[in-house]
Amino acid sequence: MTVIETPAEMRAWSTARRAGGLHIGFVPTMGALHAGHESLMRAAAAENDAAVLSIYVNPAQFAPHEDFDAYPRTWEADLAMAAATGMDAVYAPRNLYPEGYATHVAVEGVSDGLCSGTRPHFFRGVATVVAKLFNAVQPDRAYFGQKDAQQCAVIKRMARDLDMGVEVVEMPIVREADGLAMSSRNRYLGAEDRARALCLSRALETARGMLEAGERDAAALVAAVRAAIAQVDIDYVELVDADTMRPVARVAGTVLLAVAAQVGPARLIDNLKYTVPDTERNAAGV
Ligand code: AMP
Repeated sequence: MTVIETPAEMRAWSTARRAGGLHIGFVPTMGALHAGHESLMRAAAAENDAAVLSIYVNPAQFAPHEDFDAYPRTWEADLAMAAATGMDAVYAPRNLYPEGYATHVAVEGVSDGLCSGTRPHFFRGVATVVAKLFNAVQPDRAYFGQKDAQQCAVIKRMARDLDMGVEVVEMPIVREADGLAMSSRNRYLGAEDRARALCLSRALETARGMLEAGERDAAALVAAVRAAIAQVDIDYVELVDADTMRPVARVAGTVLLAVAAQVGPARLIDNLKYTVPDTERNAAGV
């Protein structure tokens, strides 16, 4: 496994492999790797001829008051996990925004609402860095987690709109044994906050039960989740269309029930995707 630090070297590595007909799988991360990242790496290694992991804590997606400096950095452990999961290269650029940097990618529509409410520059920062990483790595497939569902929708839209020729693969949420969605930020949680954080996944499970029992009213689902997570500081609870990220009043097609909350020192997000069964759609003549 090779470690690459500059965009030029990354491009050269990938160009040589693509010239040899190899397909490249890519997993972009900010490091502090856990089993969620590992599942993306395993898929990238299994489904492609060569696999690249990137580790870059992207300053462009943090607001000045956010946790850029405190964000966990676990370089040695990350490298060990990358090697053990079959990565061929780790791309760890030092600085992607040299003096005079001026270009940003804004993905309209899907970036609105949800996490943009409290993090207005977040998706511009994410889309910009992923565009830069794609240009250097030149992947055939890139793997993202449903845990960050809005981010995944933004990247899918960007890849399509800018004709990047990258297939964006969305992978399921990996959870702790008790249901808490894995996140690098879970490290911030003390024992009490860790116990409180569990209400997020439990609330979504309650909502899943309601959906499976036929509940189709967004307000009822949102109210049930809000009531179940009242002990944390709620940022949002919303039911949106899974592709457009626009709020919906009733469940139809595939929807995303998404939550974000501040739990002690950590801002946590979680979500549930639900597709209305074909039988119901056919009965409704849709
Ligand atoms: P991050 O390092 O937090 O920027 O995440 C890098 C990638 O890992 C993103 O595509 C995330 O959606 C994905 N990821 C983070 N947590 C999980 C999880 N619990 N399950 C699956 N994928 C995840």
